Amino acid sequence: MRKKLIAANWKMHLVPGEARALVSALIADLGRETFTDREVLVAPAAILIPEVKDALRGSSIILGAQNMFYEEKGAFTGEISPTMLLAYDVYHVIVGHSERRHIFGESDELIGRKVRAAIDHKMTPIVCVGETQQEHDSGRALEVVLRQMEGALGSLTDDEAGGIVMAYEPVWAIGTGRTATPEQAESMQGAIRGAFNERFGRAAAQIVRILYGGSVNADNVDSLLSKPDIDGALVGTASLGADSFARIVRARAAK
Ligand code: PEP
Repeated sequence: MRKKLIAANWKMHLVPGEARALVSALIADLGRETFTDREVLVAPAAILIPEVKDALRGSSIILGAQNMFYEEKGAFTGEISPTMLLAYDVYHVIVGHSERRHIFGESDELIGRKVRAAIDHKMTPIVCVGETQQEHDSGRALEVVLRQMEGALGSLTDDEAGGIVMAYEPVWAIGTGRTATPEQAESMQGAIRGAFNERFGRAAAQIVRILYGGSVNADNVDSLLSKPDIDGALVGTASLGADSFARIVRARAAK
C-alpha cells in the first residue's frame, strides 16, 4: 500500500516567529495521534528552515524545501544547493512548482536537472506538473502534463522513478479556490500512473506517489483522497492555518 503524503507548501509566507507558532500549534493538534498510513511534511521558505527544524524537534512531521538549484556550489547568486539542504536534514524538495515555471521561467530542462540532482543526493523530489487554464480549455492538459513529465523524469531509471513523488497541480486551481473535481483529478492522475507504467514499468507505477494540489481545503480533501490514484495532497493556502491543515491531515482516505 502506498503511504499517503500530506504536504504543506508555505510559499513566501511567515517570518520565523510565525513559523514556530504554526509548527507548535500543529504539533499540539496532531501530536497525540499516530498515523501509520500517511506522512506529513511542511516546506517553509528556505530562510526559515533552521527555525522550523528546531521547532519540529521530536515530531514526526517531515521538513522539506520549496526549491533548490542543481549545482553543489559556485557563482549562483541567490540559489541554494542540495548539500545546503542536506546540512539541515532536508531530504524532500518540491521541484517544478507552477510558480517556479510561470513566474520565474523555469524550463522543463532545468526542472529535469533539479530532479536529477535531488536523486543523485538521495533526496526525494516532489515533482509538480499541471496545465494552465488556456491549455485546459483547449483540451491539451494531458499533452502538457506528459511533456512536463518527460522533461522532469527523462534521466531516471525505473528504480529511481518509483521513489519520487509526483504532484498534479492544475495551474487554474492553484490559489484560486477552484479545485479540480475528484473525477477530473483522478482521471489525470490515473493517466500519470499509466505513463509511469509505460515508461518505467509496473513496479514503479505501483509505488510512485501522486499527490493532488490546487485549492485543497478541509471541505474537499475527503472526496479527493477517496480516489485510488490520489495519494495525498500538496496544500498551499489552507496549510497556513494549523486548524485547517490538521483537518486536512486527518482526511479520510481510500484504502
Ligand atoms: C500550491 O501552492 O502548491 C497550492 C496547491 O496552493 P493552493 O492550495 O493555495 O491552491
